[in-house]
Amino acid sequence: MEHTIRIEGGESFVVTADEPNLLRGALRAGVGFPHECSVGGCGGCRFELIEGEMATLWEAAPGLSARDRKRGKRLACQSRPLSDCTVRVRTGDEYRPPVPPRQSTATLLARRQLTVDMAEFTLRTAAPAEFLPGQYALLQLPGVVGARAYSMSNLANGDGVWQFIIRRVPGGAGSAALHDTLPPGAALALDGPYGMAYFRPDSRRDAVCIAGGSGLAPMLSVARAAMSRASPGGLDFFYGARTAADLCALPFLDQLPGFGAQLRFHPVLSQTAPDDGWRGARGFVHEELAKKLVKPFADYDFYFAGPPPMIESVQQLLMIEHQVPFAQIHFDRFV
Ligand SMILES: Cc1cc2nc3c(=O)[nH]c(=O)nc-3n(C[C@H](O)[C@H](O)[C@H](O)COP(=O)(O)OP(=O)(O)OC[C@H]3O[C@@H](n4cnc5c(N)ncnc54)[C@H](O)[C@@H]3O)c2cc1C
Repeated sequence: MEHTIRIEGGESFVVTADEPNLLRGALRAGVGFPHECSVGGCGGCRFELIEGEMATLWEAAPGLSARDRKRGKRLACQSRPLSDCTVRVRTGDEYRPPVPPRQSTATLLARRQLTVDMAEFTLRTAAPAEFLPGQYALLQLPGVVGARAYSMSNLANGDGVWQFIIRRVPGGAGSAALHDTLPPGAALALDGPYGMAYFRPDSRRDAVCIAGGSGLAPMLSVARAAMSRASPGGLDFFYGARTAADLCALPFLDQLPGFGAQLRFHPVLSQTAPDDGWRGARGFVHEELAKKLVKPFADYDFYFAGPPPMIESVQQLLMIEHQVPFAQIHFDRFV
């Protein structure tokens, strides 16, 4: 059964019975509902229910603090309407999906090990794979409660091929299903694309990509798009990994036009021993930016993805220390 959702003082939209939650229903209806991770982790899609009934899908979702709960806040990505409803939320055009997200069934075609805990997964849908470089899809994995967000590492294509680079998280249900259980040929639900940290091809500024761990996936997609343009600008690609054995970016990047010239690769290791033979940079990836970027930071567009501590360090560096305008900063926090 479908339900009409009215945004207090704003637009109304219909959420159909096959929508997993309010957020996806809103975005699919073209509404600029604020959001970031779409999986209960960040709190970006908080709203208040003014009238009507909603089911809460994940009571303990970390995106809501105890204070939020006390004040009656809910997460749109963890709420499903049970009746017509009125909600209070401040929508924004910047949240309107640039490519309409679609629910489809994907088949797992191949899995290729890249490092001890990261693998590339290739999925195929019957319809073309339509997304912008840097966006993510939500995968519903058999036997796993809740969707998982994974960023595409390839580019949009008419063959319906979606590629992901996924790290096995110790004790993680979704990444274990992908790495250990799902056989080639398995079918899973794919919903996407989502995300606002996509490549802006029309900018005249040089770009900087900063990837931490499996944050490599969306940054590869951005690099692939940036370097396949007719006249690519400069691109500095920073990749932070723990040890040399975790570095798997080079075989992807050195295939791209301009590698070693307009495309400059800066690997940084955070957990190396002094006698391990590594002659490159050591430390945290954000510490390397000031050493390698030759222009003032405000002259670049920044794209970055990875674990929350890396995102916070980069944000602090760019926004507070270097005053880079917010419109030039695009990131995904892998909560
Ligand atoms: C925008 C975005 C893009 C990402 N891209 C990548 C990528 O390209 N590669 C990569 O390796 N990782 C990526 N991640 C991280 C990824 O989504 C998972 O968090 C990670 O794989 C761990 O999942 P897990 O199931 O193994 O761990 P778990 O600890 O089992 O699950 C953690 C994730 O599942 C959700 N979750 C847990 N329990 C529930 C529940 N009961 N109901 C609903 N949701 C629940 C959490 O919000 C969290 O997202 C991305 C995350 C985000 C937000």
